[in-house]
Amino acid sequence: MKVIYLDNNATTRVAPAVVAEMMPYFSEEYGNPSSMHTFGGMVGKNIVKAREQVAGLIHADPEEIIFTSCGTESDSTAIYAALQSNPKKRHIITTRVEHPAIKNLCERLAKTGYRVTWVPVDREGRLDLDYLYDHLSDDTAIISVMWANNETGVMFPMGQVARAAAEKGIVFHSDAVQAVGKVPVDVKQSGVDMLSLSGHKFHAPKGVGVLYVKKGTKFAPFLIGGHQEKGRRGGTENVAAIIGIGKAAEMAGKDLESGEMERVRLLRDRLESYILENIPSTLLNGSRENRLPNTLSVSFEYVEGESILLMLDQLGICASSGSACTSGTLEPSHVLRALGVPFTAAHGSIRFSLSTYTTDEEIDYVCEQMPPLIERLRTMSPFWKKGASCSIQ
Ligand code: PLP
Repeated sequence: MKVIYLDNNATTRVAPAVVAEMMPYFSEEYGNPSSMHTFGGMVGKNIVKAREQVAGLIHADPEEIIFTSCGTESDSTAIYAALQSNPKKRHIITTRVEHPAIKNLCERLAKTGYRVTWVPVDREGRLDLDYLYDHLSDDTAIISVMWANNETGVMFPMGQVARAAAEKGIVFHSDAVQAVGKVPVDVKQSGVDMLSLSGHKFHAPKGVGVLYVKKGTKFAPFLIGGHQEKGRRGGTENVAAIIGIGKAAEMAGKDLESGEMERVRLLRDRLESYILENIPSTLLNGSRENRLPNTLSVSFEYVEGESILLMLDQLGICASSGSACTSGTLEPSHVLRALGVPFTAAHGSIRFSLSTYTTDEEIDYVCEQMPPLIERLRTMSPFWKKGASCSIQ
């Protein structure tokens, strides 16, 4: 059975050109870039190129790029760097809809004596900026606000948060793991001090991430060891993956320029309109404006998201309920709860996330399958018969 992969916010296919670029680093150019000999030094030179490629995608200077093992490591490094560099400050501001990489870390820090302010979002997933402004204080060490939400795709106003942080001299970090490669990300224009990204979300392999640290930002390493990454991240470099993320960054930049992501947006919009127009009692989660071009989160009232996923799976369609990280539980995700999605709908939420590999034919097929699939599940649901007459709030 052919697989229709619409779970690209969980992870993406490694682009064949990225694989080809990586291959020599396993068996031919396997030297350690820290070695003194020419064989290792050659590898080091190619890491320089990968650093330039990643820097180019986000408009950073190459020396502002630190290679890490994943988005989660980049997030932890950013938060701990700010706290360690400002030891007297004990306050963190973040949002109620962050990925667990930030949410669970901040919850842990809250248990060890830090004060955490969780900025709410409205029904459309938009950030309550006034709440954020009202909670800035001289004790705030860091503001961490994601660039785009992994479940709804809603993007937050980076420039406004950056200005507020800069006025108070507070470090501003953004988790841009879902944004990089899908929308233009310009670190200089946005005003962020630190920014996280992850290779496997834009067709590089798993196991490589990046932390951008603006020149002049106070920094302390999270992984302490050798002198790699100019002493900012110890550990022998994951050379092949770094070469891969460089190539993927170059390709993502070209896709953004050529309008390929606009093609993806049109496909997403077509899927969205079809579902909303042809399946009753269906809600869109998150604002239509300021949203990633590839992400669609919809809630089907009176059905379980897990049942939808199982039926989609039988058809070879891969999607996700809530985020991949919460799909092991039957509770609606913290993101949908923060948006205030009605209880009857939050349980039936599905996220479709497209990529440059998604085709017209695949979207046609999913459109065709969705209405009968939801109807079948609803005929089995005792709540649907009772609730069908209720209007959606
Ligand atoms: N931040 C966001 C917004 C994410 O969506 C993810 C992964 O889903 C992460 C961080 C973690 O990235 P990684 O899987 O590379 O650790």
